[in-house]
Amino acid sequence: MMPTLTPRLQRFLDRNSHSMIIDGDSIAVSSDQTIAVVNPATEEVIAHVGLASAGDVDRAVSSARLAFDNGPWRTMAPMDRERILLRFADLVEEQADSLAQLITLENGKLVGQARSSDAIGASKTLRYYAGWATKIEGSTLDLSLKQKPGKQNFAFIRREPVGVVAAIVPWNFPVSIAAWKIAPALAAGCTVVLKPSEETPLSALMLGELALEAGMPAGVLNVLTGDGATTGAALVAHPDIDKVTFTGSTATGKQIGKSAMDHLTGISLELGGKSPVVVFDDADFEEAAKGIAAGIFRNQGQVCVAGSRVYIQKKHFDRVLQDVCDLGKKMRISHGFDPDADLGPLVSSQHLERVKSYIGKGVEEGAVLESGGKQVARTGYFLEPTVFSSEDNQKVIIQEEIFGPVLVGVPFDDIEDALQKANDTPFGLSSSVWTQNINTAHQMIDGLKAGWVFVNAPGRSDPNLPLGGYKQSGIGRELGRQGLYQFTTTKSVNIVY
Ligand code: NDP
Repeated sequence: MMPTLTPRLQRFLDRNSHSMIIDGDSIAVSSDQTIAVVNPATEEVIAHVGLASAGDVDRAVSSARLAFDNGPWRTMAPMDRERILLRFADLVEEQADSLAQLITLENGKLVGQARSSDAIGASKTLRYYAGWATKIEGSTLDLSLKQKPGKQNFAFIRREPVGVVAAIVPWNFPVSIAAWKIAPALAAGCTVVLKPSEETPLSALMLGELALEAGMPAGVLNVLTGDGATTGAALVAHPDIDKVTFTGSTATGKQIGKSAMDHLTGISLELGGKSPVVVFDDADFEEAAKGIAAGIFRNQGQVCVAGSRVYIQKKHFDRVLQDVCDLGKKMRISHGFDPDADLGPLVSSQHLERVKSYIGKGVEEGAVLESGGKQVARTGYFLEPTVFSSEDNQKVIIQEEIFGPVLVGVPFDDIEDALQKANDTPFGLSSSVWTQNINTAHQMIDGLKAGWVFVNAPGRSDPNLPLGGYKQSGIGRELGRQGLYQFTTTKSVNIVY
């Protein structure tokens, strides 16, 4: 079951301890508290990392602060910053196999997806933002302020790096989401303290090591290991952080937002979703069914933009939902290194129990279990792709984020009904619409309250495509130009001469 690991990964795993990265060095945490990293396919412990205390957090933030205030990163020629980021991108690409295997070991996901979405995805994001380092610009302004006789003025806006950034990321795409934050922050000239999830700290440490190998100056990118309650909370509350960028659940995001406000620290929140997929009578049903299955079952449904509610126009409801159930039943469930696997394990036993409890709730509240629903009888946290149907849009399994391979189908009458139902949750991250009619597509694009609308495709990220939420799915946008600007601030200047 265990594949041949790359020599680099083998050396990495053979280490006795996995230290944090602070000020360009491997530093052990100050306490003797550790966190076990568990392979979700085998339930075996693959490593231990230290739990960073508030003191360790302070050390990492001080290192980032020094590197920002006195270090060469912010002041170096943008082309030199670009060159280091490009080297970092190249190294991540070169080490894609090591990173992918490590992610599969700690997260469970299919190694091919870990390679393409996480490792190669991160290298693309780094390369994209490397290009931005040389393209940051301000603007000049004409003012109406009266000048004294003989005087003129020149007003302009400078765009500056925001400062020291705390980046807190979840476990579902541990390396690519880290890159969504550190690449634009570093391109803008900021320094970063990265806190990965306690489920997936190892790939973040490997990423930090690759940054140093690429020539990133000490203190520019620091990586802390630890949990949310101790390490994450201390980082967010640290008075010397200028900006918190967080991806995770809505509940944690709210907590972090409140804590950041104690010091009026800037904040971007990329939070949970319960994204609707809407299938009209004129859709290409075969393509739609494939897109719906890919959208909810990829990465075991542990995807923020997963299409977890499907609204199908009444006439073809049974047929389309049946096609999705059939695709789910055909999926081969196995460990992430199995080349024939379509679905791996969920990330942890705790998460598996949470998803199972939602399935139980669905049955209890009278939704019809159309397919799946059971844990797979083998070692590891494996769950069948699961499809429910319901006429009632208010059921808990339709209103709350499950973050697993669980889809609920709901019939609708017409476009007004579709929009009303699609918008009727507290979330607004992503959405997809399947139709051949351009008028229907535009009406839906106009009416959907979501940061992403994909037409005739499930949602997929691209470095140039901003991602972010309406409503309780977040504040701010990641990726694209907007993703860069969240790590800058502006200074308005007026010179009288
Ligand atoms: P959590 O909110 O539980 O955790 C996210 C991160 O925050 C982890 O690193 C966690 O650390 C840390 N954390 C937890 N509590 C605190 C705290 N009090 N202070 C500071 N940091 C804390 O989310 P999950 O890891 O379970 O990730 C899944 C969630 O992420 C889903 O809701 C999903 O929708 C969302 N997500 C959103 C995306 C988007 O772009 N909008 C993209 C991907 C995921 P630890 O794990 O060590 O406890």
